[in-house]
Amino acid sequence: MILPDMLEAKKRTDKKSKFLYDEYKIDENMKIGKNKKYYIKTYGCQMNEHDSENLSAILEDMLYERTDDMMDADIILLNTCAIRENAHNKVFGMLGRIKHLKESKKDIIVGVCGCMAQEEVVASELKKKCKWVDIVFGTHNIHRLPNLIMEAIKNKKQEMEVFSIEGDIIENIPYKRENKYKAYVNIMYGCDKFCTYCIVPYTRGKQRSRKKEDIINEVKKLKDDGVMEITLLGQNVNAYGKDLYDDYGMENLLEDVAKTSVPRIKFVTSHPWDFTDKMIDIIAKYDNIMPFIHLPVQSGSNKILKLMGRRYTKEEYLKLFNKIKDKIKNVSITTDIIVGFPSEEESDFNETLDLVNTCKFDLAYTFIYSPRVGTPAAKLEDKSSMEEKSERLDKLNELINKYAKESNEKLKDKIVPVLIEGVSEKDNNMFMGYTDTNKLVNIKADKKYIGKIIDVKITEVKTWSLNGEVKVLEKSV
Ligand code: SF4
Repeated sequence: MILPDMLEAKKRTDKKSKFLYDEYKIDENMKIGKNKKYYIKTYGCQMNEHDSENLSAILEDMLYERTDDMMDADIILLNTCAIRENAHNKVFGMLGRIKHLKESKKDIIVGVCGCMAQEEVVASELKKKCKWVDIVFGTHNIHRLPNLIMEAIKNKKQEMEVFSIEGDIIENIPYKRENKYKAYVNIMYGCDKFCTYCIVPYTRGKQRSRKKEDIINEVKKLKDDGVMEITLLGQNVNAYGKDLYDDYGMENLLEDVAKTSVPRIKFVTSHPWDFTDKMIDIIAKYDNIMPFIHLPVQSGSNKILKLMGRRYTKEEYLKLFNKIKDKIKNVSITTDIIVGFPSEEESDFNETLDLVNTCKFDLAYTFIYSPRVGTPAAKLEDKSSMEEKSERLDKLNELINKYAKESNEKLKDKIVPVLIEGVSEKDNNMFMGYTDTNKLVNIKADKKYIGKIIDVKITEVKTWSLNGEVKVLEKSV
């Protein structure tokens, strides 16, 4: 049994990560899933979504088949998120339901993995109160899933294996893409920024960049496979390469990925600190790098930004924001904002509103601050009530929605390129896709356009989406 340790997870050493290419393997005796099904519930960010794509492929290598009905599954995995209390509560609520299921289906295997499993408090709760959970593993050892399943079946007791030290880079873990035309490509793991509210540097470990050639080769293969849009993934992608190369950073990687001619490239998530002028120039230079930047600001108050350990002031953020707007044509910029951070006063919150009024973001993901055990911010005194925080969030969301709609209105009657992904979930007579600025469009089209980038005329504008119609012949295939 290997339990997580937050103090270990916080340590940073100069030790270079190893690149392991043969670490993942499936022995014949591990192919035990014939006529059995697996169900994965994913919480949280795109990093977790991509990890679930790894988990799916591994389980399918073991011959399990996917099901979307948990009641029908022989293996249930919860791939968890630790970023907010809300996600934490949802996971324990779900575990309550699964416990009942396991009472009637004793042979099902239940696993908890992802960021919550990396938290000491969660792991010990699972160990003490949820002994019936068969396997618990973290973010550094996804490739060990087959071994953990085999051991849980053999030993009939909880297998807990959560490593806290910074992991090596395990290449060649297979993944099963959720989307035929869009793919995630990890470019780095972990984060060394240690923003005071954030649990990620503990749950995902030290920053470790993948080798540029491994990334480029993966992108080329995906392109050959018909993928139209690549999202380069990492917790702080702008710092790519700093731990690995002296003279190769995110701007170089972006340029090399753009040169593969994959039709669309985007990247998440950007910390403003590492966003260089060279990166802006490269994004502006290549048509296949989408004019879409997610640039979390978190607060408009310098006092709060300092307490958050964000390493920039409001003025520095605005300077970067304006540079991006000036240099990248038609760019859309989205952000994240936390309200109710400890010691946030009305005047601080008003500064956030001022910043939103200045930036007029295309969209923002807004949250009430959620203390995470073990982070420095969790020890700060928090004077405002939940009622006050909720009021602030409502006020902020009203403003965000206003600007989201305004930004969409600029597209009314315009012709924009849209990657058609498939049939709309809400209306089976419509197709859905995204503009190059990452805006959702519902379109009256034909199924022959699925997987293609076509010109679409925007006919109707809403706050969260657009409606459109096919305007001219397809642009690319
Ligand atoms: S840069 Fe992002 S992932 Fe890293 S500590 Fe800050 S908020 Fe967390």
